[in-house]
Amino acid sequence: MATGRCLCGAVSYEVRGPMRDVLMCHCIECRRWHGHVSAYTAVARDDLVLVEQRGLRWFDSPDSDLNARRGFCAECGSSLFWEGAGRATISIAAGTLDAPTGLRTAGHWYVSQVGDYYELSDDGLPRRSRGSGSGSDSDITSLTQIPPSNPTGRVRSPHPVRPGPGEPTSQELLDAEREDRI
Ligand SMILES: [Zn+2]
Ligand SMILES: [Zn+2]
Repeated sequence: MATGRCLCGAVSYEVRGPMRDVLMCHCIECRRWHGHVSAYTAVARDDLVLVEQRGLRWFDSPDSDLNARRGFCAECGSSLFWEGAGRATISIAAGTLDAPTGLRTAGHWYVSQVGDYYELSDDGLPRRSRGSGSGSDSDITSLTQIPPSNPTGRVRSPHPVRPGPGEPTSQELLDAEREDRI
């Protein structure tokens, strides 16, 4: 069972189910809120158990097409959760998890909004110019896009995983998305 908490401990939680691998989101709202890109796993809403929530507050993300709200600790300022309205899943900032997480980074979202102060070097991971699915917002809570990590916590193959023969490269994925093929 995974556990995690904010910096001061006024918010702590347990995860009683599988966790999706981590997606990095470069959107402007994540960057403003986290201070830089976000890194989120996602779990079924019912699998997230708040052990301590005296510090937990929610803030409605201003321009989210999914009417997302963001959970943070009012005592220490840690950013912890992202939740789209009516979704069955909730995203958890991966940096708040206790190690070992057993997770790996699986892709980059919203690369169309990458900041001008850093380079997104080619790490072989899939990229989306925006989110996934409808393309209308960051689908960082989707559990169906990427299978959850191995819950046994065994060491995974080295990463980042390069596309295999016949698999689309990141650039091809981007090109496809521009043409609305994804
Ligand atoms: Zn705190
Ligand atoms: Zn984002």
